[in-house]
Amino acid sequence: MSAIEIAQILDATYLVAIVLFILAIKWMSSPSSARRGVLVAEIGGALAVAATLCDPQVIQYKWIVVALIVGAAVGIPLGMVKMTAVPQRTAMALTFGSLSATMIGIAEYYVGYPHVTRFGMGEISLEVIIGSLTFTGSLIAAGKLQEILPLRPMVYKGQNFVSLSVLGAAVVLAIAMVVNPNLALLFPVMIAVSLFFGVLLVTPIGGADMPTVISLLNSYAGIAAAMLGFVLDSKVLVIAGALDGSSGFILSVIMCKAMNRSFTNVMFGAFGQVQAKTITEEEPRTVRSASPEEAAEILAAANRVVIVPGYGMAVAQAQHKVRELFDILTRKGVDVAFGIHPVAGRMPGHMNVLLAEADIPYDRLLEMEDVNSDLPQTDVALIIGANDVTNPGARTDTNSPIYGMPILDVDKARTVMVIKRSMSPGFAGIDNPLYYMDKTLMLFGDAKAFVGDLVRELSAVQGTPQEASGSRVAGD
Ligand code: NDP
Repeated sequence: MSAIEIAQILDATYLVAIVLFILAIKWMSSPSSARRGVLVAEIGGALAVAATLCDPQVIQYKWIVVALIVGAAVGIPLGMVKMTAVPQRTAMALTFGSLSATMIGIAEYYVGYPHVTRFGMGEISLEVIIGSLTFTGSLIAAGKLQEILPLRPMVYKGQNFVSLSVLGAAVVLAIAMVVNPNLALLFPVMIAVSLFFGVLLVTPIGGADMPTVISLLNSYAGIAAAMLGFVLDSKVLVIAGALDGSSGFILSVIMCKAMNRSFTNVMFGAFGQVQAKTITEEEPRTVRSASPEEAAEILAAANRVVIVPGYGMAVAQAQHKVRELFDILTRKGVDVAFGIHPVAGRMPGHMNVLLAEADIPYDRLLEMEDVNSDLPQTDVALIIGANDVTNPGARTDTNSPIYGMPILDVDKARTVMVIKRSMSPGFAGIDNPLYYMDKTLMLFGDAKAFVGDLVRELSAVQGTPQEASGSRVAGD
């Protein structure tokens, strides 16, 4: 086979990979086609890697094999982490991706030196600046999410000025190097300044904004990969990087909308501070609790129930029990839907993934806007391990760190039931006024165990919704 024929086959393979990546992004945007999207992306990735390995420019495989072994040794355990640790796992994946983009940029500079062109220097500079800041930024984000580093924002006076000056210094160094690519002494300084900027970028951001930051860092890693594609003249890398960069950016915008925050606010607002104030400082207030028997009676008497899952459902791995609850209520003639908040859990789509694992029909999963208009006509809002995403204080309390974040309006349902283990706050570290409302019943216990008890009780409860429609909470 001639060199031209080989090149054509490789180009055709890259083209197929690119089409698969585009289809994957399209399919991943809906829960019903997301699995197909992931599979197609994997096939696209495998094709791109295989084509690269078959490229005649690869002259020896020794180091590639070593890299594959080391990568697999790190990647396999990383891929096996619990679902609740996926945000920090994603941050670590971004760390590796951006580190490799940076290292290749460094290698390209020194391999080309002293003949690096100005244009080439521009590409390399962008690649190493974005790669370096994404590397340290992702490391700090992973540390915060793993709670190795404090979740609270670390802020100081004049911080935005310092951060922007450091970024400005990196840009000035890059311009100087584009003007004269042989100023080799400036190159490591530019990288060090960019690494430092990544630290400054993420340390002032609080835990509650971390998901948006991860998504934004994902976007930066995509841009770094696209730049790397220009440096290596790899079209597949340019397009895959651009897809990654733009989809990460769009996801960040969606998440900002879900929290009613602007980008600048997320990046510079030091939002997400875990409040020092706890419920112990408040006036003692009473809550009403109920047993599984009482809760099951109310559920069996309802016409419509909206289940709102949150982080606690993920921790308890209660999704399969929730499926049993859905089945038994549906069999009893209750109309059951799920209200999904975009940032419920610890990663975008967290609840969708868990409910899909339990085979809950996709058409029963309602997005926040859709379910909110239904909630005033809903008999029971059953909250399973969710807290912040149901906090009505986000609508009314201007001092709340989550003020302005759109929430699921569960407080408008006729009866509210909350399954959680205690009165502890959720991720944002704040109390939830929902729990003290007259219509709220606290169902204290582990989500999996409590939902299991509900299923057992419901199996024992006789009668149709109509027969039982007069029943209320025991003790009312
Ligand atoms: P929250 O973190 O607000 O609340 C979860 C609740 O679950 C806690 O109050 C806890 O109460 C309860 N819980 C924990 N374990 C169990 C268990 N085994 N059984 C029953 N309950 C349990 O979760 P939400 O989903 O409501 O909100 C998500 C929060 O996370 C938001 O603040 C969001 O901004 C943030 N975030 C979201 C990300 C995303 O992309 N989705 C990523 C990172 C952060 P108790 O201890 O009393 O049981």
